[in-house]
Amino acid sequence: MTVAAKCTPDEEFLSAIERAGISAVELYTNLDYLHNLSKVKKTCKKFSFRYAVHAPNDGCEPELLAELVGELKAEIVVFHDIFWDREWERIASVFGKIKTNVCIENTHSVHEPLKLMRRFGMKRCLDLEHLQMQCAGVFEEAFVPVISQAAHIHLTGYFYGSDLWHTHIHHSPEHSVYFLNLIKEAGYAGLVVSEAKTSLQTYDEFKKLNDFYKLWESKLDKN
Ligand SMILES: [Zn+2]
Repeated sequence: MTVAAKCTPDEEFLSAIERAGISAVELYTNLDYLHNLSKVKKTCKKFSFRYAVHAPNDGCEPELLAELVGELKAEIVVFHDIFWDREWERIASVFGKIKTNVCIENTHSVHEPLKLMRRFGMKRCLDLEHLQMQCAGVFEEAFVPVISQAAHIHLTGYFYGSDLWHTHIHHSPEHSVYFLNLIKEAGYAGLVVSEAKTSLQTYDEFKKLNDFYKLWESKLDKN
């Protein structure tokens, strides 16, 4: 399991993540970025990250997105469940030609991705912040079977009732250790993206994130 940061495909953020010692990145994209693809590809290829790419929420451009995913050899591409059935068919066909894991992220319910997993063989991106909204902060342990089904994970410092929405995981250390332990217990071995808002995408925050994760990891080795 590897910690990843999230940012737009811009050099200043990617460089801050690299300097902080983090080795994996999930890229935020939108139509503007996809329409400037050659610049985005050039910027991202300056770095040797393991990449995941989040599909835009402002349009459906699977061909352009696939070009980016292919070029970066991104291991994961994440979609919110916001497309129409005919768009899913197009997405499945375009990404059928590319070596990556197409993942569907839960928003209001962890059951959302199931239809697409069954129909197109897509995978699960489990957003644990959204899961906590769904279960109101109780019985999270009951979701270990769902965690073990995940091919990609989003986690934040949020816990139910807090104002830590879209903060880094080190903003609530105790709660995040509890969740990282659950993820470990589920046998998950992929990327864990600390999905923080733009104002927290700074070198300082990325460094704290990496230190927090490494400390958790080092304690595991001793057990
Ligand atoms: Zn998410």
